[in-house]
Amino acid sequence: MSENNFNRRDFLKVVGMGGAAATLSGCGWTSIQNGKETVVSYVTLPDYVIPSVADYFNSTCAQCDAGCNIMLRVREGRALKAEGNPHSPINRGKMCGLGQAGIQAHYNPDRVTGPMLNGQAITWDKALQELNNKLSGVKGEEVAFVTGVMSGHAQSLLNTYMDAVGSKNRFSYEAISPAVLRTVNKKAYGMSMPRYRIDKARVVVSFGADFLGAWVSPVYFSQLYAKFRKGTRPEGRGVLVQIEPKMTVTGANADRWIGIRPGTEGILALGLINALGASGVSIPADIAAVAHDYTPERVGTDTGVPFDRITKLAALLKERTPSLVLAGDAVEGYSYGTENGMAIAMLNHVLGNVGKTVEAAAAVPFTQFAPVVGNRSSLNALNDGLAAGKYKVVFTYAANPVHTAPASLNFSKNFMKAGFKVALAQYMDETAKAADLVLPLDSAMEDWATVVPEYMAAPEGAYSEGYAQMSFRQPTMEKLYPNTDGSGTRSVCDILLALLKQRKPDAYKDVNDFYSYLHADVLKNKVALGGTAADDNDAFWNDTISKGIVPLKGISGKLASRPVVAGLSLPSPVTPDASYPLRLIPHVSASIRDGRNANEPWLQESPDPLTTIVWDSWVEIHPKTAEKLGIVEGDIVEITSRSGSIKTQAYIFPGIHPDAVSVPVGYGHTAMGRWAKDTGANVFGILDPVYDKTTGELAMNETHVKISKAGDRVIVVKDEGFGGGSQAGKKKIAVKVSAGKVDLSKEV
Ligand code: SF4
Repeated sequence: MSENNFNRRDFLKVVGMGGAAATLSGCGWTSIQNGKETVVSYVTLPDYVIPSVADYFNSTCAQCDAGCNIMLRVREGRALKAEGNPHSPINRGKMCGLGQAGIQAHYNPDRVTGPMLNGQAITWDKALQELNNKLSGVKGEEVAFVTGVMSGHAQSLLNTYMDAVGSKNRFSYEAISPAVLRTVNKKAYGMSMPRYRIDKARVVVSFGADFLGAWVSPVYFSQLYAKFRKGTRPEGRGVLVQIEPKMTVTGANADRWIGIRPGTEGILALGLINALGASGVSIPADIAAVAHDYTPERVGTDTGVPFDRITKLAALLKERTPSLVLAGDAVEGYSYGTENGMAIAMLNHVLGNVGKTVEAAAAVPFTQFAPVVGNRSSLNALNDGLAAGKYKVVFTYAANPVHTAPASLNFSKNFMKAGFKVALAQYMDETAKAADLVLPLDSAMEDWATVVPEYMAAPEGAYSEGYAQMSFRQPTMEKLYPNTDGSGTRSVCDILLALLKQRKPDAYKDVNDFYSYLHADVLKNKVALGGTAADDNDAFWNDTISKGIVPLKGISGKLASRPVVAGLSLPSPVTPDASYPLRLIPHVSASIRDGRNANEPWLQESPDPLTTIVWDSWVEIHPKTAEKLGIVEGDIVEITSRSGSIKTQAYIFPGIHPDAVSVPVGYGHTAMGRWAKDTGANVFGILDPVYDKTTGELAMNETHVKISKAGDRVIVVKDEGFGGGSQAGKKKIAVKVSAGKVDLSKEV
C-alpha cells in the first residue's frame, strides 16, 4: 500500500532510529498553547521519504465499534488523512465523517501526555509502582475493571490479567448499545447479531433503525443501501419505509416516513401480522394467536398511524418479497423494549425473510479474541458494588460512566467510594478527572492492536456464509508524546502487559513490549491466520500487517427456524402524567454519538444532517406542541424530568411526534477538553431509572418531561441560514420541481 518501495520493517527501523527527527517534524514540538510553533525539517531524510510523496498504511478505525478498515495517508512522517480500505467487506473503501475526524483525536492538543497522580505529573515507573502498592494485599473480589467494547489481543490480555488478579468483576459498559436488540435477536433468530441484507430486499421496513446514521455499522449499511436503491438490480429499486417517532437520517432518506406514537412500534408490527393474515398470508398458529387482538382499528388508535396506511403497508410487504424488517434504537428504549423488538422480528419470520435477508453470521475461530460487548445493566451492577464500598481498586478504559450515567444512579458519588481509581484515558474526561491515577493512552494512529467487530460483515460470494475476519491496527507515525523522561503515552496492550508483569513476572519476563508479543503470536499462528508453515516469517508478517485484514474461516452460526413468542403481549399506551406530559427521546447523532468524540472540533462543526445545528445541543419540538407552549425557535427552555433538568435552545421540527421531544446525547461535558467542555447540555443526566423488564437495560425513552421557557432567546447557529432561506439578507432561491417529477413510490 505504498507509493514508493519500502517495507514495514524498514519503516519501523527508520522511525526507531530517526525517532527524534520524526518527532521534531511532528506536532510533539509545536506549541499551540503559547502561540509558538517550532518546525524542524529533516536533517537527514529517511530512505523511504520522498518529499511530497505520500505513503499509505492499512489500519482499523477506532472512532466507533464498527471496526471499519482504513488506509492512513502519511507524508514526511505525519499522518494526514484517512480513507476507507477498498478491500474491506465492512466499509468497502468508504468512511463516515466521524471516522475522518480520527485524525483530530490523534493531533488533539487536549490529550493527556503523561501519567498523573492526584493531578501531578509522575513517571511511568512511579505510576506503575504506585499501582502495584495499591494492589498489594487487595483481594481479587476488591478489584473491578470497567471497559467499553473490547476485542482482539487487548480483550485477551485483559481477561488474563483479571484471572491473574483473581477478579471476576469485569464490567463491559456501553452508554449507547443495542443490548435489547441482541436479546431480541437471540430469541427471534438464534443469534445476537445476524447479517441484515438490505441489498437483497425489495422493501425495507425499518422501525427506528438509523442504519444510515449511527446504528450498528452505518458505513457498511450505507454500501448495501446504495445497491438496494439501484434500479438496475434484478430485484428492481428497493422501497424504504421508516417508522419512528423522531426523524433520523435514515428516515429523511426513506420513500415514506411514518411518525408513530413513541413506544407503539411493536403494536404496529402485530397489527401488520394481523393484516397480513387477513390478506391470505399463512401465519404460524402461535404467532397468529399473539397478533389476534391487534386489529387494524385498535392498532390505528394506539399508534396514531391511519388505518389505510397499515393495510397499504401490509399489501406492500405481501407483494414485494423478500423484504427486510429492522428494529432499531427507537424500539428498544421502553420498559417492554424486548417485547417491542420481538413483535417486529416476528414479521421477518411471517414474511419468510429469515434465511433470505436475515442471514447467519459467523464468529471468529479464536474465541479469546471475540468482542466483549457492553450494556447498561453492567453499569448498574458496578454502581451497586461501588455504593456498597466493595472495591479497593477500580480501573476504567474506553468508557466515561461519570458523564454518561443518569443522575439517579449517583454514580459520581459512588465512584469516589472506590479506594483507588485508575483511568486509562486519552483525554482528561469526567471519569479520568475523578480518578486518582491517570495512565495516558496512545492514539489509534500510534498503537498496535487487533480488532474483531461485533457485526461481522462479509464479502460477496459463496464464502460469505462462514466468513469472519480479524483486523490489525498499526502505528502510522512516531508517537507525538514518546516515552522520554519517563513520561509520554502508551498503548492499552502495553499497559496490560506491564500490569501482567507485576502479577506474573516469570511468565512475561521475556516480553519486551506489545509489538514483540503480537509479532510472536502472529507467527506462532501463521497457519490459522491463512499462511502455511513454509511461509517465510518476515514475508508473512509484512503481508499480514500491510493488508490489515485477515479473512478467517469462521464458526458458522445457525438461524433459528422459529421465534420464541410465548407470553408476548404489548400494552396500549397510557396517558402520561399531566405534570410531565412529553416523552423525552435522547437521540444519537452520527457524529457526536455517545460523546466520546465530543472534543473533536470537526464533529462539533459538522452540521446535524436534519437541523443543520452546530456547536450546541438543542431540543426538537413539534410545531403544534411549540405553539401550545408559546415556544419559538431559539428560546432557551428548561427540560425537567423527575430526575433533573437541563437547559438548551428550542428547534421547531415537524419530524418529531407531537407527544415527544428529542435532545441529542453526547453533549454537555464538564471536562474532556476545550471543545467538549461546556458545549451543550448532558441529557443522560436527567434520564429516569426505568428499565426494560426482560433485560434490565435502561429504558432510554421512558423519561417524561415538562418544558418551560427559561427567559433567554438566542439565534440558533445552524447551516441553513436565518429567516427561512436567506443569508445575511440575501435570499436563496430554491429550484422548483413539480410534484409529478418527484418519484415517490406509489405503493406506500
Ligand atoms: S462507522 Fe465511521 S467511525 Fe465507525 S468504524 Fe466505520 S468509519 Fe470509523
